[in-house]
Amino acid sequence: MSVGMLQDSVTAPAPAVLSLDIFDTVLLRDGSTQVERFVKSGRRAAPRLGVDPGALAAARILAHTNAYRAISMERPGADPRFDAICRATVASVGLGGEAASVLAECEKDVDAERLKPGAPALAIIDEARARGQRVIATSDTWYAPDDVGELLVRVLGLQPFDRIYTSSELGATKHHGGIFEKVADLEGYGAEHFLHVGDTWAADYGRATAAGWAARHLSRGHAFGVALAVGRLKALVMYSRG
Ligand SMILES: [Mg+2]
Repeated sequence: MSVGMLQDSVTAPAPAVLSLDIFDTVLLRDGSTQVERFVKSGRRAAPRLGVDPGALAAARILAHTNAYRAISMERPGADPRFDAICRATVASVGLGGEAASVLAECEKDVDAERLKPGAPALAIIDEARARGQRVIATSDTWYAPDDVGELLVRVLGLQPFDRIYTSSELGATKHHGGIFEKVADLEGYGAEHFLHVGDTWAADYGRATAAGWAARHLSRGHAFGVALAVGRLKALVMYSRG
C-alpha cells in the first residue's frame, strides 16, 4: 500500500484514536541487530564502570535471554522490563543500581544513534493532529514509556504522542495478543474507535484486527530486509570475536 493510499484510508471515517507502532514505524532502525547494539553499549559503558567490555556485553546478552525465559514462566506473553534487565546485567559483574543506570543510558545512546524518523508515519500523525484526533503509541518493547519518550525526543526532536503504551508496562504484547484490549480499556473507548498502524503484519495488523480495531500495515519493504540480513551477519562476526 502506498503512503497516499494509507493516508486516504486513515482519513475516512476518522476513528477517535490513532495508534502507531514505534520501532520500524515511527522510529526506523538501521540494519543493526539487538546483539550488535548490546555489544556496542557494553563497550561504551564498561570503561565508566571499570569492568571488562566483553564480560559486560556477554552479561547483557545472558540477562536478555534469562529475562525472556523468566517472563515466559511468570507473565507469559509479556516483555520484561528494561530496568530489571539492566540491574540483572550489572549484578552479574558484581555492580549495583547506579551501574544499571549507566548501562541503561549507554544503551539508549546507542539505540538513538541507530534510529531515524519514519517519514510516512510522521505524515500520518500530522494528518491526525490536523483533524484533532488523539494519537497514541502501542509498542512491543522492554523499554518503559518514558524510555520510548526519551528516544522520540532525541531522534525526532519532539514526543508526538498523547500517551505511550509499552508491552513491558502493560504485561501484554502485540506479538502474543492482549495489549490492544488493555489499551482500549485504559483509553476508555470501544475497539471500533481505534485505528492502529505498524510495520509487522501479524502483530500490528493481525492482532489489532482480531481485537476489533481497524488496522493498516505500513511495511518497511525489501531493502530493509536485506539490510537486516547483513546486520545479522555482522553481529555474528562481532560477537564471535568477543
Ligand atoms: Mg515495529
